Amino acid sequence: MSSGSTPFDSILIVDDDPLVCAIAQAAFAQMGIQEVATASDGRQALEYFASNPHPAFILCDLNMPNMDGLQFLRHLADRSYTGEIGIVSGEDAAIINSARLMASKYGLTIRGTVAKPLDVDKIRTLLDQDKSNAGAATPGSSPAFSRNDLVFALVNRDIKPVFQPKICTRNGKLFGAEALARWSHPDLGPIPPARFIPFAEQEGLIDAVTGAIARETLAALAKWSRHLPTMKMAVNLSGDVLTNVELPELMLSLCRECDVDPAQIVLEVTESRIMNDSALPIEILARLRMNRFELSVDDFGTGYSNIDRLREFPFTELKIDQGFVRNAAHDAFAEKCVRASADLGRALGLRLVAEGVETADEYDYMRALEVDLIQGHYFSKPLTFDLFTEKYFQSRAEVA
Ligand code: C2E
Ligand code: CA
Ligand code: CA
Repeated sequence: MSSGSTPFDSILIVDDDPLVCAIAQAAFAQMGIQEVATASDGRQALEYFASNPHPAFILCDLNMPNMDGLQFLRHLADRSYTGEIGIVSGEDAAIINSARLMASKYGLTIRGTVAKPLDVDKIRTLLDQDKSNAGAATPGSSPAFSRNDLVFALVNRDIKPVFQPKICTRNGKLFGAEALARWSHPDLGPIPPARFIPFAEQEGLIDAVTGAIARETLAALAKWSRHLPTMKMAVNLSGDVLTNVELPELMLSLCRECDVDPAQIVLEVTESRIMNDSALPIEILARLRMNRFELSVDDFGTGYSNIDRLREFPFTELKIDQGFVRNAAHDAFAEKCVRASADLGRALGLRLVAEGVETADEYDYMRALEVDLIQGHYFSKPLTFDLFTEKYFQSRAEVA
């Protein structure tokens, strides 16, 4: 990261371990941040506040003598601290997660959490998160684009899918792909889906976005299917779309229009969005399944669902949440979640997908767990239609 890209000009490190303070100071210095202060516990940090302005960022340990991190966070909320906070801790994931939840309930902004042992790269990643989440919807932040911009983008076809391969662990071959929406704004540049999908939901435009993505995705599938007739293509459905009774008929007519078999389409639904009590999403999902569309439960493990609830929906695939996948190797809780998700999925006869696999170790681990499909940067980032064609179907002329 260049010194200019960090959004913070002043930082306070609160940790009783001098080594942690030294590592963090070195990392911040490398990023060109000049103003870095340290405190060895919450009490000292509050004393620092008495004679200094609030720092833009606080890196905070949890387990400290005198005043621990949890108490300190409460004091920060009392002082209406508006900067960002990074939690760094040697405690297990459940405790770190509780601290995070508590802080957000106090209205504090948690940038991220880092597990000890600390190193310079972890600090860089924590501060760099701003780039990958650039523009991610944060409560209270208003988008820099308007409803009209989104309507214009839809009319102008500025919202398009990119495709990330799903690879079979059994034979290493291409199984299919997931379509992920991208908005390329003429003035603002690329806007990530984490920002415009919630906005489209809020503005009642999500059906139009889904329709635009589905249409292009099915057209791509029709072309690729000539070479790989078994190929499956996933489209994400927002929870709001599952209140549109017309959805099954819309999807069927798109399939007819593009001449693809519904059995080749996987509709991914985020777990937390369907686990409420309404009947309509169940009806819509059941009708889609009756028409042979496949249904995938996305981000599994994040939505507190129980087995009974899962059985009530006619899913065919389960995607283990990437947060668990990434942490499974070094976090006992995440490891147990991954194992339990895989066991549950298998018991229900679902195809298992591990998402967010970035390293060879993560890949080997998921293979050993007998997960069926792998998706993640380890194989490929999401690709445009042309790049995907080039990578998996060699000559573009064959497909176009
Ligand atoms: P998701 O459905 O869970 O999609 C997976 C996200 O993880 C994608 O982010 C993908 O680019 C990213 N990813 C995949 N492999 C890796 C990896 O190895 N490492 C890392 N760091 N990331 C990886 P993306 O494209 O930014 O999409 C974010 C979310 O936006 C999606 O999460 C999905 O919930 C939503 N979304 C995207 N396209 C659509 C759409 O057309 N309709 C709806 N309703 N939601 C969409
Ligand atoms: Ca998905
Ligand atoms: Ca996911």
